[in-house]
Amino acid sequence: MKYCPKCRSEYHDEVDKCADCLLPLTDTLPPKREIEWDELAVIYHTDSPYLAQLLRIELHENNIITYLENEYFGSMMPIPSIADVQIAVHPEDEEKARKIVEEFEAPRSEEND
Ligand SMILES: [Zn+2]
Repeated sequence: MKYCPKCRSEYHDEVDKCADCLLPLTDTLPPKREIEWDELAVIYHTDSPYLAQLLRIELHENNIITYLENEYFGSMMPIPSIADVQIAVHPEDEEKARKIVEEFEAPRSEEND
């Protein structure tokens, strides 16, 4: 079987282009590119886009893909309730990501003691 990477149609092996999309077919179906926010696990939220960015770098260093909601509201919107940046990850990365968040938050909570 071959697959169109765009419309995900299945074709016989002797076909090499999708009839609809005119794209070269692949042997394996790639993972879905689009993921709904609802399918993700929100692991952190903050009113600081700067902190969100720091945590994101941390997560990326651990090979975790992150998604941000309201990424730019913090700098554009003066309303505090809207300035909430949420970081979400794939559910399979959630456990690992939460540990990283704990470590990320740990030094700051110690400072308050
Ligand atoms: Zn196609």
